[in-house]
Amino acid sequence: MDFELTTEQKMLQETVKKFAQKEVAPFVEEMDREEKFNEHLWEKAKPLGLLGMGIPPEYEGMLNDYLSFGLMGEELSKVDAGVAVVYGAHSLLCANNIARNGTVEQKDRYLSRLARGELRGCMGLTEPGAGSDAISLKTRARKEAGEYVLNGSKTFISNAPIADVSVIYATTDPEIGHAGLCAFIVEKDFPGYQVGRKLSKMGLRSSPTGEIILEDCRVPEENLLGGVEHTGLKIMFSGLDIERFLWSCQAVGIAQAAFDTALKYAKEREQFSQPIINFQMIQDKLATMLVEIEAARLLCYKGLTCWDNKQYKEARMLAAQVKLYACEMVNRVTAEAVHIHGGYGYMKEFPVERYMRDAKVYAIGAGTSEVQKLIIANYLR
Ligand SMILES: Cc1cc2nc3c(=O)[nH]c(=O)nc-3n(C[C@H](O)[C@H](O)[C@H](O)COP(=O)(O)OP(=O)(O)OC[C@H]3O[C@@H](n4cnc5c(N)ncnc54)[C@H](O)[C@@H]3O)c2cc1C
Repeated sequence: MDFELTTEQKMLQETVKKFAQKEVAPFVEEMDREEKFNEHLWEKAKPLGLLGMGIPPEYEGMLNDYLSFGLMGEELSKVDAGVAVVYGAHSLLCANNIARNGTVEQKDRYLSRLARGELRGCMGLTEPGAGSDAISLKTRARKEAGEYVLNGSKTFISNAPIADVSVIYATTDPEIGHAGLCAFIVEKDFPGYQVGRKLSKMGLRSSPTGEIILEDCRVPEENLLGGVEHTGLKIMFSGLDIERFLWSCQAVGIAQAAFDTALKYAKEREQFSQPIINFQMIQDKLATMLVEIEAARLLCYKGLTCWDNKQYKEARMLAAQVKLYACEMVNRVTAEAVHIHGGYGYMKEFPVERYMRDAKVYAIGAGTSEVQKLIIANYLR
């Protein structure tokens, strides 16, 4: 076992840390208040390659290993997790999906432009009636004269309001369950593609989330992801584990920021003529938070290392464990950070209330905690 990051990984960590502090931090409050992603952060991320973290170097991306991708998400989330979600939905959920599953023509057509940030990506799986039970999705794909005609709607889609290209899941026949699933690469200018409502959220407010509506949306048959019908389930599952690791790294980043803020406050805030860190009940909270964050981080790094070493069987089991632990942990840690701040923690002038709002979705998105428990239990049976 090697717990040391490589020189390249440490350099990336340092680069993203500086980027987050210099470029992202000045806009965090405004983006949270206005519920709007700042375009400047798209432009500034381009030269650093942050938009191509999920894309292989032969397509101008920066994907060397997935642990590095996780480190990027962790560092960004210490400052603003919503920005990590914008880059992640683009680079992982859309671009990396195409990189892993696309035909040579599909990769040639889309990946370099996604890596350069000329196109923005998203992934539409969830529907109003199909969330945890994603396989029951109803978006219908009908083949007609060299095209697929898509009808249905997607909701809660990260980047939907700003995306140019979406990976969309649909079925050729809802009656046959997972056997009918297909994935498509859909461009925003294809006839019948509409961006629906932009949704207003409790947290991650710098990350635009919205609906996609497909009304007789005409998709050329060469945009069937992977080129083979009914491979949608395999494509969906192939991306879920890696999504869960990277999502969990963001949770670790938020938790670390909440802990650092609470520790500083506990040393500065005086009650009963002494800093509140002198009180054992505050010490208890901080000690537990620190251990929980480190445990989650190690689980994340272990899972990503397994994935990078192609130990997929172990990684698969770990993905559900990491997701469950890290994403519940961030809720406990951020709630404690607010509590350590007392009444000030409830006020907008301290960042901990934002960390707590941002944290909530981590136990919901990418498969809820209950779903992770079901997956873990399934492995045990
Ligand atoms: C901010 C945000 C961003 C998102 N981004 C994307 C995106 O980019 N692309 C995309 O496709 N989707 C995205 N999603 C959707 C996300 O993956 C779903 O919200 C999630 O899978 C849960 O589905 P649901 O919301 O329909 O909840 P439901 O599935 O309706 O669950 C409701 C409750 O029931 C519980 N439950 C459901 N089934 C079971 C069971 N069998 N046993 C026990 N409990 C159960 C759940 O755990 C939950 O507590 C996003 C969601 C959010 C909030």
